[in-house]
Amino acid sequence: MTEQEVKDLLVKTGAIMDGHFLLTSGLHSPHYVEKFNVLQHPEYTQKLCEAMAEKFKDAAIDTVVGPVMGGVLLAHETGKALGTRAIFTERENGKMTFRRGFTLREGERVLIVEDIVTTGGSIKEVIEVVKSLRAIPVAVSMLVDRSGGKADFGDVPATALLRMNVETYTPEECPLCRQGIPMTKRGRTGK
Ligand SMILES: [Zn+2]
Repeated sequence: MTEQEVKDLLVKTGAIMDGHFLLTSGLHSPHYVEKFNVLQHPEYTQKLCEAMAEKFKDAAIDTVVGPVMGGVLLAHETGKALGTRAIFTERENGKMTFRRGFTLREGERVLIVEDIVTTGGSIKEVIEVVKSLRAIPVAVSMLVDRSGGKADFGDVPATALLRMNVETYTPEECPLCRQGIPMTKRGRTGK
């Protein structure tokens, strides 16, 4: 899939919405991202994950790992495309870890997947979990990197199907407010 095809699919399903949004942070933005608007369609999730897997089909990946919630779906579908195992991390008392008996063996080659990356904080924690078991974090594969280049994972290379900058403004400096554009109500389609 090209970056444009990925973006078109996310817009079509309402995973990326255009308008005038009030974010939970109190900031305003002309865009809003709701990943589950696309991930609720297994056919699309499969298609996106096949594209995420494509770059790593010759990387001898043993296992795909993602953090809950979106990472569960992405790891499953990416692992299916690569013919590998797929497991997920979750938080226990605030700390990222494997539960449910999931583990990695020493030297196991791991691809880390995530849906929408804003800061990359969760992925960094997943990398630490993988390294703590002496497995190898081969790469990070992101559906959308909206960090504006801030998501950096040191010695672990990262790729994204789509890179986008999501502008945010304080209410005082918001150009949409200045133009008198009403706030967008987030309905089922975001329209
Ligand atoms: Zn505004």
